[in-house]
Amino acid sequence: MLQKKLKAVLFDMDGVLFNSMPYHAEAWHQVMKAHGFTLSREEAYMHEGRTGAATINIVFRRELGREATQEEIHNIYQEKSRLFSSYTEADPMPGAWELLQKIKAEGLTPMVVTGSGQRSLIDKLEHHFPSIFRKELMVTAFDVKYGKPHPEPYLMALKKGNLQADEAVVVENAPLGVEAGHKAGIFTIAVNTGPLDGQVLLDAGANLLFPSMQALCDNWEQIIR
Ligand code: CA
Repeated sequence: MLQKKLKAVLFDMDGVLFNSMPYHAEAWHQVMKAHGFTLSREEAYMHEGRTGAATINIVFRRELGREATQEEIHNIYQEKSRLFSSYTEADPMPGAWELLQKIKAEGLTPMVVTGSGQRSLIDKLEHHFPSIFRKELMVTAFDVKYGKPHPEPYLMALKKGNLQADEAVVVENAPLGVEAGHKAGIFTIAVNTGPLDGQVLLDAGANLLFPSMQALCDNWEQIIR
C-alpha cells in the first residue's frame, strides 16, 4: 500500500534501534528517588521522547507545585545522564539490522530522528549499523527546539530528506514519539518494545502496531506492498 511513493523510513533510536529504554527508565527512577521524588520506571516510559527538562518539570509541578529552576534541571539531567552512561551499553534491538538491510536493498533511505543529544551518537550508530545512516540526514536533540510530541523533529526530517509526508514512514516505540509522527502527517508504525499496553500507541495515532522490531521486519514486505 505504500510502495509507490515510499522513499524513506524515519527511525526513532532509543527503544527502536537500540534496546536502551530499560536503562533510561532505571536512571530516571534512581535519580528522582535520590532527590526525594517518585518517578516509576513505567512512568518513565510514558515520558519517553520528551526533553529532559520537560520530564523534570512534570515531576516538579506534581510534587512541589512549581517549575524546576534552570539549575535544578541542569543538575538532575546531568546526574541522570551520568548514571545512564555508567550502565552497560545497550545492544541493538533484535531485528533492527535485518530490517535496515531490507530497506537498503529496496533503495529506500533510512534516517534517524531522535531526541537524544549524546555526543557519541553518530559513532555508536556507525559501529552497530555500518554504512546505513547518513550524518547529514539525521535529526537529533541539537537540531530541534521543541522535541517530541511536537511534530517538529519529523517535519525537520522531511525537510532534510527533501521528502513529502506521504513519501516516508515513521517507526516509533513511545506514545509521544508516535504522536509526533502522526502530527507530522506521516504514516506511523509503532513497535511496542517496552512494558506499556499497546493500546496507548494506537491511541497516540499509530497506523500499525507490532509487538517487536523483529515482527515488523518479518512483515515488512506485506506493509510496503
Ligand atoms: Ca523511543
